[in-house]
This record gives sequence, structure tokens and C-alpha cells, in this order.
Amino acid sequence: MIIMKKQKIIIIGAGLGGLSTGIYAQLNGYETVIFEKNPVPGGLAASWKRKDYLIDGGIHFLSGYKPGLSLYNVFKEVGAHKAECVDIETYARYVDEKSGTVIDISADLDKFQADLLSLFPEDKKKISHFIKATRGLGKTDISEFGFKEPLELMKRRDWIKEFWQNRKALKYFMGKSMKSVREYVEDIHDPLFKELLLYMFLPSVPIVFLWMVLSFVSQKQMGVLIKGSLDFARKIEERYLELGGKIEYKSKVKDILVKDDTAVGIGLDTGTIHNADFIISAIDGRTVIYDMLGGIYTNEKINKIYSKWKTVDPSISVSLGVDMEFKDEVWMTIFKTTDPVIVAEEEKDSVIIRFFNYSPHFAPEGKTVIQVDFETEWDYWFILSKDKKKYNQVKKELAESTIEWLEKRYPGIKDKIEVTDVATPYTYWRYTLNEKGSYMGFLPTADTFTSYVEKRLPGLSNFYMSGQWSMSMGGVQPVIYSGKHVIQLLCHDEGKKFLAKEKG
Ligand SMILES: Cc1cc2nc3c(=O)[nH]c(=O)nc-3n(C[C@H](O)[C@H](O)[C@H](O)COP(=O)(O)OP(=O)(O)OC[C@H]3O[C@@H](n4cnc5c(N)ncnc54)[C@H](O)[C@@H]3O)c2cc1C
Repeated sequence: MIIMKKQKIIIIGAGLGGLSTGIYAQLNGYETVIFEKNPVPGGLAASWKRKDYLIDGGIHFLSGYKPGLSLYNVFKEVGAHKAECVDIETYARYVDEKSGTVIDISADLDKFQADLLSLFPEDKKKISHFIKATRGLGKTDISEFGFKEPLELMKRRDWIKEFWQNRKALKYFMGKSMKSVREYVEDIHDPLFKELLLYMFLPSVPIVFLWMVLSFVSQKQMGVLIKGSLDFARKIEERYLELGGKIEYKSKVKDILVKDDTAVGIGLDTGTIHNADFIISAIDGRTVIYDMLGGIYTNEKINKIYSKWKTVDPSISVSLGVDMEFKDEVWMTIFKTTDPVIVAEEEKDSVIIRFFNYSPHFAPEGKTVIQVDFETEWDYWFILSKDKKKYNQVKKELAESTIEWLEKRYPGIKDKIEVTDVATPYTYWRYTLNEKGSYMGFLPTADTFTSYVEKRLPGLSNFYMSGQWSMSMGGVQPVIYSGKHVIQLLCHDEGKKFLAKEKG
């Protein structure tokens, strides 16, 4: 009997995208090894200990963790379903300090609608439209819409099937529904209602994105991780290792080795070389395409993406371990404040607070982790990081002004703080090497929503890309699918039948 030697794949990066790639590659009979520069998996899905507190610097919320949506099947395939979540009852609390208005964006759409109507009667028509669309989307399982197959492989008949299965929801993905939130709010009368929608997520996303998120929340299909992001990544790592995958931690890839326009291996920063039949990159796209591969294997479409598409603006998080309970707080509160906090020399009137009060895993009994997030810009922090003393001083000052701001809203908190941790865009970059510290890849807009990013590079054989830079939008769900899609593509190119489960 002839025993066929398994083909070897090197995967660069053990973020969720790289791990998912490894799982599907193992399931399809490849021998894989992931090279990861950090000592742990997860990349952006990161959490870390500070004394008795667990600081979560990654995933805010996600769906797919429980039966009911087809997305759950993919979570099961990669072991992500083992990470426990608690359903979100309220998407967020919105506080407008100027008017003193507090709005809970409730999972109960009747309640949310009634609250909106009582506050903004002039916008009755828009409110009905918003809620009707949210309910409408909930009538179809759209959790896999656009993700079932790699778009590169979809034929006319697949599209017809996809559209037919999602026919009831299709109208929400066309025409005016693809307007950005910024455009959608233009004809809203009440400025407060406008701001509520603008601050709910990123204002650049098509309005259908907000409907989808709220629709999942109302179906109790949106949750928060009770043991944090690293635990989530560990569950996927566990599945990968069970399938026989290998990970080399603390191994930073410096070069991709190419011979006759075929990827043949990688070089580490230590000078060590590793060869393989295929190389799959699950790290920052620009670094790989333009630095490691010298910009040789591109085309007009790729160059356009990297010159025109924006990346998601990075954020800065001030996390605090506090010897206090915040039982009455919802998990996330968005403040439109009258007392702006200065971040990167800019006044920020939007302050987002997350209270990790929904699980005992973040803090000892009677204590809580709270995290304050601000959107910020990359250049300021990158330039500042060159002067470590000044960088640390600015971080300290931001923590102090954030604490002063909190003290006015939660009296007594200042004296109860046991741990302070500040993660800047530079921290995210240093840890993951993602362009401009982007935590979700390309900025989602109507344009990116309807485009796709190639997972193969023109002219380069045996090389593929997965992870957030291989999708038009990052996030947990897209990057898990990116791992599945890239192996589907590889199997297609190799004339092999793709398997999503173990044989038998
Ligand atoms: C604060 C925050 C909140 C978020 N909230 C949500 C949310 O609510 N919902 C949601 O769906 N998504 C959310 N995301 C986004 C989501 O976590 C990411 O899109 C996703 O985890 C990206 O995975 P990835 O594998 O593509 O990339 P990464 O996580 O960046 O993984 C890449 C890995 O490659 C490694 N690497 C890089 N360069 C090299 C090299 N040269 N050699 C070896 N290894 C290398 C890195 O160390 C890293 O481990 C959030 C992210 C953050 C940071």
C-alpha cells in the first residue's frame, strides 16, 4: 500500500482567523503549523490579568454561541461554542447629559419603540421604519448571509439559491437600506434621536448593520463572553490542537520565501527557515502584500483597496479594577457628555463605559472591572510612542482625567480603584501588528459591504490569505468564516472535496 505524505501548510498568525484556518486545514488532511509572534493565541481577541482582575481588551459582543442561528454550526466546527456567553438584555444605555435623557436600547423592541415614540413623537415615521426593519430581519436566519461559500467560488445557481433562501430579507440589503447611518439620520427631526443612532455603532456602516445587530439582540442571539476574549481564543486553539495542529509561539515571521512565483516557505526573525507546500497569511494584509512580498503580486483591485479603503479608527481603553459593585448598570453605557475628556489633544464628548458586572470571572466578589473607551487617531499615538517617557506620562494623565470624569458620575469611585490599565492604539499595534492599530480591519461602509477581498494574490502560486484583512469587514464571525473559505478555495484549487467535519 502506498501511504501518501500529507501536504504541509504554514499559517502565519494565531489570531481567530489563523486558528480557524488551521482547523479546516487539519480537517481536510493537511499537516499544519501556525507561527505566532506572541506567547498566546487570539491576537486582537485578547484579555490579560492585572492583580486579581481580568482585563478584556478584545471582543465586545458576538452572536453564534448558541443554537438557533446557522452561524452556530460554524462556531461548533471550530469549538467556539464552548466559550460561555450571557445574552445581552439591553444593547446599550444611552445618556445625553445635556438634556438628562436616558434611553435603554432594549432587547424588547416593543419597549424600545414605545420609549422612542414618547421621546421623539415628531419622528414617529422614522421610528416605525427603524423598528419594522429590525423586526423584518428577524424573520429570516440571516446569520450566514454572504458567508455560506467563498464568494470566489459562487456560481450563478449558488447566488439564486442564496437569494431565494434569504428572499424575505433581501429588501433590507438593497437601495436605501445600504445608506450609511450618517445618511439615514439626515431626515430625523430630533437631534437626540439622530445622535442615538450615530453613536450606536460606527456611523459609516450601512443602516442595515444596526438593524441586524438589534435584531440579534431582540432574538437573544447576542451575548458577551463570561470568561473574556482569551478564553474564547483558547477554545478554538483547543479544537485545533485536538485535530493534530501545531503552533510555534514566540515565532515572528519576517519573510515569505518565493521561488519561481510560488510561495515555498517562511523566514523567522531569528533567521530560521521553514518550508511548506502552501503558505497562508492570517496577519496584517498591507505588511504581507507590500512589505514581505514587495508589492509584486498585486493588481488594480488590490491596489485600490489598499489606497482607497479606510481602516477602522483605533480606540483607547482605560480599564479599572474597582472595589465597588455596579449591579444596576447595564453592560455598556454610551455617554454624550457635557464635560468632554481630552484624548490625543481632542475633546471627546462620547464616552463609552463597559461594566463587567455580568460574570464573576473578571473581578473578585464585590469588585468590578469597568472599561472606558474613546475613539482616537493613530498618528498621534504612533508619534508619541517614540518618546516612551512622554507616552507613559500622557497615558497616566488620560487615566487620571478619566477617573476624575467618572468620580463626578459615580461618587466615591476614585478611592476604590485598585488597578489601572491603559491600552492605546500603539499597544494594539505592538501586540498584533495590525495597520494603524485597527481592531477590525477595513472600515465597513456601503462600498466595502458589497465588495469582496481576494484571498489569492495574482501571479503567486501556493499562497493564500485569511483573517480580517481577507474580508471586507473584520469581526469574529467574518474571520472564522475566512478560515473556512480559504481552505475551501485551496481544496477547490487542488481538486479535493472540502470537509467541514471529521470523516465518519
Ligand atoms: C477592543 C476590540 C473589540 C472588538 N469587538 C468586537 C466585537 O464586539 N465583535 C466582533 O465580532 N469583533 C470584535 N472585534 C474584532 C475581532 O476581535 C477581530 O476582527 C478578530 O479577532 C481579528 O482576527 P484575525 O485573526 O484576523 O487578526 P488578529 O487578531 O490580528 O491576529 C493576527 C495574529 O497574527 C500575529 N502576527 C502578526 N504579525 C505576525 C508575524 N509577522 N509573525 C507571526 N505572527 C504574527 C499577531 O500576534 C496575532 O496573534 C474587536 C476587537 C477589539 C480589539
